Amino acid sequence: MRTVEIICTNCGAETLLRRDAVYDGFVKTGESLSCSSCGHRFASEDDVPFKARNTGPRVFTEADRSARVDLFDTGEADWLCRHCAHYIVNPFTQFCALHRREVQATDTCDRFEKAVQRSGSDELL
Ligand SMILES: [Zn+2]
Repeated sequence: MRTVEIICTNCGAETLLRRDAVYDGFVKTGESLSCSSCGHRFASEDDVPFKARNTGPRVFTEADRSARVDLFDTGEADWLCRHCAHYIVNPFTQFCALHRREVQATDTCDRFEKAVQRSGSDELL
């Protein structure tokens, strides 16, 4: 359900806008806009004291954007060359054993194979 918050100009309450259809017989002729706290009628949409009219969509956009950034960050980490089984690093270069070319630790490619994480310290020797 869509709720519209208002700060009533009559009773001063932070409350919800009440929207009632107005019928002339079976024909909808308009809407009655009133305060759900005190019942004060607003003459038209322009007279409704909306509370922060644009807050809703803007907040959603910011939350949406930061959520997408987080997903990208976590998703990216697994695909980097430095996590790949073919990635070889030495003091002079970073090298992809599969493509036989120099790569950056932050590169990605479609032949990525996740390097097996070995336990123990023997690999360091
Ligand atoms: Zn009111």
